[in-house]
Amino acid sequence: MIEQLAAQAAIAMDNARLFEQAEWAQTELKRSNGELRRVNQDLETFAYSASHDLHEPLRTISISAQLLERSCGEELTEESASFLRSILQGTDRMNTLLSDLLTYTKATKYTEGPPPAVESESVLRQVLETLNVPIKEADAVVTWDTLPLVHLHEGRLSQVFQNLISNAIKYRGKDIPRVHISVQERDAWLVFSVADNGIGIDRRYADQIFGLFKRLHSREDYPGSGIGLAICQRIIEQYGGRIWLEKSSPGEGSTFCFSVPARVR
Ligand code: ADP
Repeated sequence: MIEQLAAQAAIAMDNARLFEQAEWAQTELKRSNGELRRVNQDLETFAYSASHDLHEPLRTISISAQLLERSCGEELTEESASFLRSILQGTDRMNTLLSDLLTYTKATKYTEGPPPAVESESVLRQVLETLNVPIKEADAVVTWDTLPLVHLHEGRLSQVFQNLISNAIKYRGKDIPRVHISVQERDAWLVFSVADNGIGIDRRYADQIFGLFKRLHSREDYPGSGIGLAICQRIIEQYGGRIWLEKSSPGEGSTFCFSVPARVR
């Protein structure tokens, strides 16, 4: 009996030790989660203020350069005029970069309340109207299947469609750009696809292209800031979904997919 009691006491002591360790691990996890959240929030606030506040001085530089060009453009030497053009191009580029960064940071601010039900097809039609000029310029043909009702904030869905479709047109090959948008229901998810017949992407970069500022081409070949897909990823992940490069190979077009919950959670 004494042996039995001793064994039970040993088990009880082991349990107490394990319990204490588990409690410590939980407290530690909570602490580091809190710290991570704080650091993330600080970073977001920093990125938001930087991109927001930098617009103002940039505008001053840009307006001053424009005034300078207007008032003494004729008198400038060829070299000075080229410096001035570089300033104007630089400010234009920085302006786009700051706006894209601001859109990226705003993509996590949940100020709109729970997602309403929206007709994804009508969101798509509006996006195509916005992209009317690049679509016409490229002679692009955009087609789509019947698209469903989804529970997403309209502005966010519109941003995702816009980024994917404008990329599909921008990274076009020699043929007339063709873009097709379709959807499939898989388990509890709606999986949207945006397929193009453009220049395609080497599979090695399938994950990297979603990184902030990650680009596979020079600005001279294709303009852009490398933020578009990162914005899409940030938006889609907020709704618990995923976005990925489904298939692509150089010269044969690309298909991007994103999933969103089929029903409200
Ligand atoms: P940006 O277009 O401003 O460079 P994105 O984040 O939208 O930034 O895209 C990242 C990179 O992924 C692009 O620079 C391009 O190399 C590649 N990419 C994106 N979409 C496509 C596409 N439809 N076809 C080919 N390449 C693409």
